[in-house]
Amino acid sequence: MRRNRNVKIVATLGPASETYDMIRALHEAGTDVFRLNMSHGTHEEIREKHRIIREVERDVDRPIAILGDLQGPKLRVGTFANEAEELEIGATFRFDLDDADGDATRVYLPHPEIFAALKPGANLLVNDGKIRLRVENCGPDFAETRVIAGGTISNRKGVNVPDVILPLAALTEKDREDLEFICKLGVDWLALSFVQRPEDVHEARALVDGRAAIMVKVEKPAAMENFEAILDSCDGIMVARGDLGVEMPVHAVPPLQKKMIRLCRAAAKPVIVATQMLESMTASPLPTRAEVSDVATAIYEGTDAIMLSAESAAGQYPVEAVTMMDQIATEIEADPNYAQIIRASRGEHRGGGVAEAIVAAAREIAETTEIKAICCFTQSGTTALLTARERPGVPIVAMTHYRGTARRLALSWGCQCVMTAELSRFKQAVVNAVRAARAGGFAGNDDQIVVTAGVPFNMPGTTNILRVAPCDERLIYSSEPG
Ligand code: PGA
Ligand code: MN
Repeated sequence: MRRNRNVKIVATLGPASETYDMIRALHEAGTDVFRLNMSHGTHEEIREKHRIIREVERDVDRPIAILGDLQGPKLRVGTFANEAEELEIGATFRFDLDDADGDATRVYLPHPEIFAALKPGANLLVNDGKIRLRVENCGPDFAETRVIAGGTISNRKGVNVPDVILPLAALTEKDREDLEFICKLGVDWLALSFVQRPEDVHEARALVDGRAAIMVKVEKPAAMENFEAILDSCDGIMVARGDLGVEMPVHAVPPLQKKMIRLCRAAAKPVIVATQMLESMTASPLPTRAEVSDVATAIYEGTDAIMLSAESAAGQYPVEAVTMMDQIATEIEADPNYAQIIRASRGEHRGGGVAEAIVAAAREIAETTEIKAICCFTQSGTTALLTARERPGVPIVAMTHYRGTARRLALSWGCQCVMTAELSRFKQAVVNAVRAARAGGFAGNDDQIVVTAGVPFNMPGTTNILRVAPCDERLIYSSEPG
């Protein structure tokens, strides 16, 4: 089952999507990557979803990526004697370290590190940013605030502190347990929430120890300030517009989305645009015009992947939401303007090694001749990522004998992953590539494809051959050197 689009679809699993039939239907409708959110559900529930995804993968015989998403240091207030209080604009409200139940004047905030970092003038946001409070006076165990935007505050509501870098451990105790659990289970990508510094990524990477690629969720202004160093430290980025839009004004998010997509492409690392893409489809079979336009914009910007959260995890129309994304993607990618925009935003050659030159040549051949696919042999996945960065106009068939590489690449723009035998001769590589291109429906007997590979085989980072090969097997055997 090949995909007829380049942009990938990530679907979050939850109560609305936990059976074999539903997960298989989501995959068939277009889901390339399943997200397991560690903020919700027990380890047993996560284990069961993981098992089903792998069962679907086996049954459809196509690599599927699993993205494990750690909750990270999400801050919360304590409880109230009346469960909830109404905060009026202009009132004062106090946060402190007293664990007694709160009232209309104060509440417990069990995070001394927030008090240590706060300064007068800083903002505290409660309940997805609906309530905004400005710090007027603070000390090591309290903060006096003025209500700027009021609303209902209730037990254990989330708190965001956008203006200060918190000396918070990037990984909580829960995160460490979840990380070990999910890495043992086997995930292809591990997402880190509320990253602020590259050191946060290094810390997680040491614990992951090569068992998964690392994705940074950009949802703090601090992550944006350190973006280039953070991008350097990780393997992929999620534009986490939910929390990012709380931590900074919502209208600041679209330019940051554009910037992140551009820099990720330049770095040849995949990027996901996430949150509220088809939000209204949690309760409606059709999205709003604005949502369709939002998905389309992310695709025109050249994102690798678009994501569903509540729409697929807890909504009433999970399959319809994936189908809608698939239809939007197919429509946009068929627009001649799309190809032109994507080409115009390619940028200059970065890195300038042999592999970069070969993938650029492959893309140029695809643009100027009638070849049907670029089949690239890749071990670590790097050559496929470099090819994807070129955003060629023909499918990229990523050929690898590492299952982990094939699954990881399921997130990347245009990569259609095919498992192949371990090879020792280039002639065999060409034959395998031609067979894969034909079996996948990418090319017919009379067509030609581009094959790229590194010889000697089994040495990562050696891509050094480009061959334009006929898809007629009799011709390959008679014409292929070596
Ligand atoms: P979340 O992350 O769904 O885990 O909160 C995504 C976001 O904040 O946009
Ligand atoms: Mn978030």
